[in-house]
Amino acid sequence: MTSRQEAEQLDKQDSLAAFRDRFQVTGQRVYVDGNSLGRLPTETAHSLQRLITEGWGEGLVTSWDTWIDAPTRIGDLIGSQLVGASEGEVVISDSTSVNLFKLAAGALAADAKRNVIVSDRGNFPSDLYVFQGLAASMGAELRLIDCDPVDGPQPEDLQHALDDRVALVSFSHVNYRSGAIADMESITRVAHKGGALTLWDLSHSVGAVDVRLNECEADLAVGCTYKYLSGGPGAPAFLYVRRDLQDSIVPPIWGWFGQGSQFAFDEAYLPADGIRRFLVGTPPIISLYAIETGVRLIAEAGIEALREKSTLLTSMVIEMCDEALAQLGCSVGSPRDPEQRGSHIAIKHPDAYRICRALIADKDVIPDFREPNIVRYGVPPIYTTFVETWEAMERLRDVLEEGSYRSLEDTRARVT
Ligand SMILES: *Cc1c(COP(=O)(O)O)cnc(C)c1O
Repeated sequence: MTSRQEAEQLDKQDSLAAFRDRFQVTGQRVYVDGNSLGRLPTETAHSLQRLITEGWGEGLVTSWDTWIDAPTRIGDLIGSQLVGASEGEVVISDSTSVNLFKLAAGALAADAKRNVIVSDRGNFPSDLYVFQGLAASMGAELRLIDCDPVDGPQPEDLQHALDDRVALVSFSHVNYRSGAIADMESITRVAHKGGALTLWDLSHSVGAVDVRLNECEADLAVGCTYKYLSGGPGAPAFLYVRRDLQDSIVPPIWGWFGQGSQFAFDEAYLPADGIRRFLVGTPPIISLYAIETGVRLIAEAGIEALREKSTLLTSMVIEMCDEALAQLGCSVGSPRDPEQRGSHIAIKHPDAYRICRALIADKDVIPDFREPNIVRYGVPPIYTTFVETWEAMERLRDVLEEGSYRSLEDTRARVT
C-alpha cells in the first residue's frame, strides 16, 4: 500500500505541483470536495477587486461596453480550450439547470412529431426534475432507463429506449455519484441513428476529463463552472449548441439579451443569429468574470497532464480503499478502469453519512456525502497533492477504526 513517503515522492515528481500555489490553501485542512466547489484561485480575488473598484466603482454604466461581450468571450475560451467546441458555439448564461431547461425545451419544440426525452434514472436529480417539469408543462414524456449504478449509461442501454418519438437523449458525461464516463461518441451515434438529438451535462467532466464535443458530433451541452473550473459559488453556467443547429432552435424564454437588435428596443422579438439567442437577461457580471482565471489555469496546466495526474490520484484512493478500508466495511463504487472514470471516487459504506460528519468534525477532512451510502472524494488534479489524498484516506481509516461516528446523529443536515 502507498506509504506517506511514497506520496511525498509522487508530489516531488509532479509536474503540476506549482499550480497549487496559485490557489488559496490554508491550514492543514484536507479538501476532497473541489468537485462540489473548487478552490479559490488567488488571482481571482485580485481581479474581482479590480473589477469592483474600477469597472463598477469608476466605470459605472460605461463598463458595459466591455462587459457586454463577456458571455461569448469567456464562452469561447471554455469552448476552444476545454470542451472541443468551435468559436461561437459556447456562451455563459444562467445556471446549469436553467440552461438544461432552455436547450431541452428548444429541442422539443423544434420537432412536432417527437416529444420524448430519454435519460437515466441515475442522472443528477436536478436534470431529472427539469425533464419532469417539461413533461408536465409541454406535454413531453420522460423515459428513464435503468443503468448500471457504477458504469452508467451504455450505448446498448439506449438502443432499447429509442423509437421515432424520441426527440432528445440526455445524460451526464461523468456521473455525479460513481464518476463513470459515458461514451459520448458511441451514445451520440446511436441517438442520431434513432433520429434524436443529444444533450450532455458536462458539470462533472469539464476541467477533469477530455471533452470533445465537435469530434463526438454532440448536439447540445450544458455545464457547471464552480466545480473543476473554480468559478466560485453560484458562478453562471455555460451552454453549447452545435453551430448548424443554432438557427433552428428557438429559445423558450425570449429576453432582450437574446434579441437580435438588443438596443433598438423594437416591439417584436427576433432572436439573434448564433449562440447569443440563448441568453436571456442581464448576466451576473461579477460572477461571470470570476470564471475566467480558473478556466485559464486549467488551460495552462493542459487537460492531458491533468488527466494523467487525476488517474494517479484516483488510483491511489482505490488502492488504499481495497487494502485498508475494505476490512472496515468500505467498497469502491467507481469504475476500476481509469479510462472509464472522472476525477472523483465513490467510497461506499452503510454508515457513510455519519462517517462524513465525523471526517468534517473531528479530522478536518471535507468530503461529500451522497445518498444513500457514498463518501465521495473529489481530487481535482490542479491543486490536490498526493499527500493530501493519502491523508484523506488515512484519516478515513482513523474514523472507521475509532468508531466515534457511531455516536453522531444520523439525521441529515440542511446541506449534505
Ligand atoms: C453540479 C451539477 C449541476 C448544477 O446545477 P445548478 O443549476 O448549477 O445548480 C447540474 N448537473 C450536474 C450533473 C451537476 O453535477
